[in-house]
This record gives sequence, C-alpha cells and structure tokens, in this order.
Amino acid sequence: MKKLQVDVGIVGAGPAGLTLANVLREHGITAIVVEKGTRQEVETKARAGLIEHRTVAFLERAGLATELLANGMTTDSCTFIHEGEAFSVPYADLAGGRKHHIYPQQFLVRDLIATYLGRGGDILFAHEVTALDGAHGAQAATISASAVDGAESVEIRCDFIAACDGSDSIAHRAVPESIRMPVTHRHPFRWLALLAEVPPFVNEIVYGMHPTNGAAQMPRTPAVSRFYLQIQDGEKAGDWNDERIWTALGDVLVVKDHPVTTGVITEKTIIGRSDHVSRNMQHGRIFLLGDAAHTISLAGGKGMNLAIADAEALAAAMAAYYGQDDERPLGNYTTDRRGKVWKAVLFSHWLINLLHSAPGDVAQAAFSNELRIATINELRSHGPTARMFAEEYAGE
Ligand SMILES: Cc1cc2nc3c(=O)[nH]c(=O)nc-3n(C[C@H](O)[C@H](O)[C@H](O)COP(=O)(O)OP(=O)(O)OC[C@H]3O[C@@H](n4cnc5c(N)ncnc54)[C@H](O)[C@@H]3O)c2cc1C
Repeated sequence: MKKLQVDVGIVGAGPAGLTLANVLREHGITAIVVEKGTRQEVETKARAGLIEHRTVAFLERAGLATELLANGMTTDSCTFIHEGEAFSVPYADLAGGRKHHIYPQQFLVRDLIATYLGRGGDILFAHEVTALDGAHGAQAATISASAVDGAESVEIRCDFIAACDGSDSIAHRAVPESIRMPVTHRHPFRWLALLAEVPPFVNEIVYGMHPTNGAAQMPRTPAVSRFYLQIQDGEKAGDWNDERIWTALGDVLVVKDHPVTTGVITEKTIIGRSDHVSRNMQHGRIFLLGDAAHTISLAGGKGMNLAIADAEALAAAMAAYYGQDDERPLGNYTTDRRGKVWKAVLFSHWLINLLHSAPGDVAQAAFSNELRIATINELRSHGPTARMFAEEYAGE
C-alpha cells in the first residue's frame, strides 16, 4: 500500500473539493484530492449551470474564473408562465444588479482541475475512498482509497479530511448520525432532468406552472438548454419517451402563441426524491462540504453555489489555523455555514411550492392554486414579494 502525508485530504473532485484544493494551495497548505471517477468522467458530467454573482466574484478573486468570464453567458430576468400567460421578473434590477452567470458545471470542474494541476496540485483520479477516520481524539486523520483498476491502494495521513464526495457521501458513514443530526424532506413528486439541443428561450430561465407537470427551461450554452419536468413519484425514465416529453413540455412552456422549441434530447435522468441536510457539518478532524453536507432540491439553483461557498469558508478557516495558529474559525465552521444553508433551503422550498402543485385531495389542490395565483400577482406587480424573490434568487 502506498502511504502519503499532506495537511488536508480532500475526498471528491466536484466543485467543493476542487475549489477548496485550489484555495488551500494558494495559502501554501498541502492537500491531495481523491476522486473515484476518471478525469474524463468528472469533466463531462453535466449538472448545474446557474452560478450566482457572489460565487463568481469569489472565484474571480481566487483566480478561478478566467474561462467562466470569457466563455459563459449572463442572465438577469426570468419568465413565469401561468395558464398560457407569460410575464417577466427582472430580478437583477430588483436586486441591485446581481445577475447570474450561466456556465455548465462540467466546464467549471474542467477549469478548476486544469488550474489546480497547473499550480502543481495533486489529484488521484480513479481512486475510490473506502474508509476514513478522523474522529475526536485521533492524532491524525486517515483516508484509505482503492484504485478502481485494481492497482496499488493508497493510505493518506492528514491533519484534516474535507468530505466533498457528494450526496452519497462515504463521510456519512464516518460521522455518526447522532453527531451529524441529519434532517430529510421527501418530495411528493420527482423531476425529469433533460439536456436537449435547443437554443435557450430569450436567454432567460423560463418557469412554467401546471397542475401536474410543472416545467422549466434553462440556458446552458447558446445551443443547449436544460429542461425540468415534474413527474409522479414512482415513474421511471423509461415511462417517458421523447414524444411524451415534448408533448408535456409543450403543454406548459407556451408563451402566447410560441410553443417550446423541440430538439434532440441528449440526456434524461430522474432526480429529486428527497433533500437531506446535516445540522452538524463537522466531527473531530472531518468537515462536510457541499452535497455531502446538504443535498437540496434544484429549485433556485443553490446546490453548487452553496458547495463553493462552503469551500470558501473552510479554506479561510484552515488558513487561519495554519497561518495564525487560530483554531476558532475551524471550530465555528458549522455555525458559520448553517444560516446560509437554511436560507437556501427555505428559498428552494418556497419556489417549489410556487412552481409545483403537490398531489393531494381536490380541496387542498384548489387552496394551493389560489395561493399560487396570489403569489403570481405579487410577482407580476414587482412589489415586495418580487423583491424578496429577486434578493433570494440572485443571492447575496
Ligand atoms: C440536473 C442538476 C442540475 C443542477 N443545477 C444546479 C444549478 O443550476 N445551480 C446550482 O448551484 N446547483 C445545481 N445543481 C446542484 C449541483 O450540481 C450540486 O449541488 C453540486 O454538484 C455539489 O457539488 P459537490 O462538490 O458538493 O459534489 P459533487 O459535484 O457531487 O462531487 C462529488 C465528487 O465526489 C466523488 N466521490 C463520491 N464518492 C467518492 C468516494 N467514495 N471516493 C472518491 N470520490 C468520491 C464523485 O465522483 C464526485 O466527483 C444541480 C444538480 C443536478 C443533478
């Protein structure tokens, strides 16, 4: 078994792990990233695309946004469609000019990898972490990883472990539930997440409300859109052929006489069974970041933004520890992040309730629909509800 020693062992080469690795390196803190996928796999895994103004400002300060700024797009308003009527909310104007950047997650991951390796950083691709130990009282933390191709396994000894390994995190097993104190919410429906060769509709995010199949269209590149379609819990991707998908999207995403543009669907997955949030994001020498700490619904596009903000906070705390011998920011990591995480969860649930009607009895559905109409009228008037939406949607 190969033995390595660094200051910080990072599990997972997603946005959280790679951002942390890059920033630690700038502070002279040694780290190694262990990733179970190959480089090609992580650089082509399409997921997020909506990046908040604040996230981009941080990445820019860290020297990590050059490609994003050169090749991404921006968006500053979104369109809501309700019963065939569309209206726009210019959220950036209502939120002090804070636009979103649109840049596919896999491109950002590719850029973060290139920068980290270019700065002399080390990533062990195709190595799956099988065990980690960093509980209270341990002299050091350890990460054990097996090479996916059966080559020599690795043991990493480090001061701290940053668990950035996504929603199915192995760190969940290393931190007892009694300490993590997770809370979960099961959604009463699910979403088909699609990528299609369809140019974005007016370069805006479009949300369509519908009694059973709420939907959305989001720009990804000038030629590609991401679509979401609400489906019933229990349905499978195979239940939805392309024709059925475009018919359902066409029923919802109709602006006046302009039906949704159709195109080749290149990816189709089902997502969103439940949200889970760890109330405590640290234990001894182990810190949880990103989806490993909080997997929340896609509504509002908060997940990757939170993951990068966790990395920013933990990197600053580690810089204080190694640079000024100050342990307090590390001790306060959970407390610092908790409010921001729950703010995102709160907004995401508000938006879900606006966009989707939950299956239920007729009386409940009628009541929910009236609430939705009242909210839509508030948003349309660009009054206080629209300003709240804008502030939360755009992020700080
Ligand atoms: C369809 C879709 C659309 C989305 N849209 C948005 C959006 O617009 N805006 C937004 O902010 N968020 C969005 N999100 C959420 C966002 O993608 C996630 O929140 C984000 O990927 C979290 O980053 P992360 O680094 O925490 O985890 P991940 O990106 O999941 O990375 C974790 C990494 O850890 C690796 N790993 C896992 N287990 C191990 C192991 N045992 N050993 C080694 N490596 C391991 C994985 O292979 C992976 O590379 C979207 C998600 C989906 C699915």
